[in-house]
Amino acid sequence: MIQIDALPAFSDNYIWLLQDTAKRRCAVVDPGDAGPVEAWLAAHAGWTLETIMVTHHHNDHVGGVERLRQLTNARVVGPAHERIPGRDVALDEGHRVSVLGVTFQVLAVPGHTLGHIAYFSDEPATPLLFSGDTLFAAGCGRMFEGTPEQMQPALARLAALPPSTEVYCAHEYTLSNLRFAKAVEPSNPHVQQRFAEVTRMRADNRITLPSTIGLERLTNPFLRTSETLVKQKADEWNGRPNDSQVAVFAALRSWKDTF
Ligand code: ZN
Ligand code: FE
Repeated sequence: MIQIDALPAFSDNYIWLLQDTAKRRCAVVDPGDAGPVEAWLAAHAGWTLETIMVTHHHNDHVGGVERLRQLTNARVVGPAHERIPGRDVALDEGHRVSVLGVTFQVLAVPGHTLGHIAYFSDEPATPLLFSGDTLFAAGCGRMFEGTPEQMQPALARLAALPPSTEVYCAHEYTLSNLRFAKAVEPSNPHVQQRFAEVTRMRADNRITLPSTIGLERLTNPFLRTSETLVKQKADEWNGRPNDSQVAVFAALRSWKDTF
């Protein structure tokens, strides 16, 4: 049994902390800052940091890796095609990696960065996905390095995971993402309901994660590029027919960049 908690970092990052309570060992995902992890370890004597999992090379995800590795001897696993400080295990599409006794499948999800990977496991009763900055709650990462031809299929692959899959992404962007989702689909009742819920949660300073793949399919415009009404809005935005899901995605992504 793995318990998962969020360690907030910077203004809106989450460092996910996986805990194997029986064996007092833990793992973290994307420690952009060592501080929150060090503080947790200091408050939990006898625990070992076993593994540091990395999704991509941006500093808000790897900034704490070297210090934590030096401090704890934790193994660093991360994308094969990016420069990751202290990486011990280079992971690529189709690889498997065991963390705290749970086997994760590695999915290559290029777009936000070219080498970005996600970690999926269907071993726990509830499947888990660590999606980094690729799939956010009700949104997706900016396309810094990749193309729509890469990122749209990568997101579609994540959308095809089991609906019960819990989605652990790396940022608290849900509310602003839902403002955009409302602009794309003003009449989508699932978006309206989620916007109301998330507005209340953020007013209380509560975390809006994890999401689920099922909820993302209903509310995330970037996973809904096959919907007629979403395509119509994309066509209105860039003033031409977007005749593929890739084209609809590209229009939505550039609209969101200036939203
Ligand atoms: Zn990033
Ligand atoms: Fe980030």
